Amino acid sequence: MPEKPVIFLVSEDPAISLAFKQVADSLSLELVEMEAGRPVVAQAKTAEPRCIIIDDNLSGEDWKALYHSLCREMSYTFVPILVVVDPARAEDAVEAIEAGLVDVLVKPLGPVSLKPRLKAMLQIKAIHDELDEERSMLEQKLNEERSLREQLAALNEELKKLSTTDSLTGLANQRYLTDWLKTEFEVVSRYDMPLAAIMMDLDNFKAVNDEHGHLFGDHVLKEVAGIIIEQSRRADVAARYGGEEFAIILPNTDGYSAAHLANRIHSAIREHTFEDGRHSVRITASFGISTFPSEEVRSARELLEMADRALYAAKDRGRDCVVSWSELEG
Ligand code: GH3
Ligand code: MG
Ligand code: MG
Repeated sequence: MPEKPVIFLVSEDPAISLAFKQVADSLSLELVEMEAGRPVVAQAKTAEPRCIIIDDNLSGEDWKALYHSLCREMSYTFVPILVVVDPARAEDAVEAIEAGLVDVLVKPLGPVSLKPRLKAMLQIKAIHDELDEERSMLEQKLNEERSLREQLAALNEELKKLSTTDSLTGLANQRYLTDWLKTEFEVVSRYDMPLAAIMMDLDNFKAVNDEHGHLFGDHVLKEVAGIIIEQSRRADVAARYGGEEFAIILPNTDGYSAAHLANRIHSAIREHTFEDGRHSVRITASFGISTFPSEEVRSARELLEMADRALYAAKDRGRDCVVSWSELEG
């Protein structure tokens, strides 16, 4: 059998006690009677009564103090409080009641008026509980939605990173570099700032793969990326442009400084032994450099094209060297 709903009665008056007992029985409620001074608030917190009835004539305790501490300490939930007052103190009681839903019943109590009043209180309590439940469900849904949104934002961030990054080396990918360069080129051409590009291709890399396997080839590519990052400046944008081809864009840099960086990377690669514990190789790389402003370079695409042509010239010259487009012009 389900437990009966509980109501509290704080009173020392046998007549009031009897009146509520009868009504509680007829409404199938469990009436818990308490004397003043007993820890009503603490008990109300655990028993969760559907309604609390307080007699205004309590010996040793001011009913208003009890009423206020109930309002204060049970503010997390709604519990209707019914105050039973002496007719002479009725006005005083109404005034004392400031907050929460409360009803005042004036003595003497008769079952005819008591039952509908108590029923009304219980109905209001039920409606409040339903609303509370709906609100907490809504809150839960809102929290779920918020957490989904956060997950989505993180996922988008990850996707953005994946779409701009080369997964093997962690450098930018070709798409990111060309997109970024388009914007950068607009800025530098408007303000007449220098810009340089370095294209670099590993020499005879096919042989590394053929001799040591593709996995070791990947390892070499990662280490080459590490060397590029180590040698270049923060403002430079380095990308894996193709299989074993890399591009570096150097904002605010002239041909002389670009050649200096290319030579540094050239030497660092030459002097490095690439190894993974099982395999070990020495490799070289070829470099092509282009710069803006220059007659041939009127767009981002042309800047990359000229660097690429200089790189082909470096390959033509027997690899393992740095060639600037400007020196080929004449
Ligand atoms: P060259 O000096 O003319 O550039 O000779 P090369 O052998 O480097 O050039 P080629 O174009 O003949 O070969 C490029 C090689 O780069 C072949 C290909 O397997 C390798 N390669 C391209 N991408 C990757 C990659 O992601 N991982 C590995 N391990 N190798 C790659
Ligand atoms: Mg190559
Ligand atoms: Mg290549």
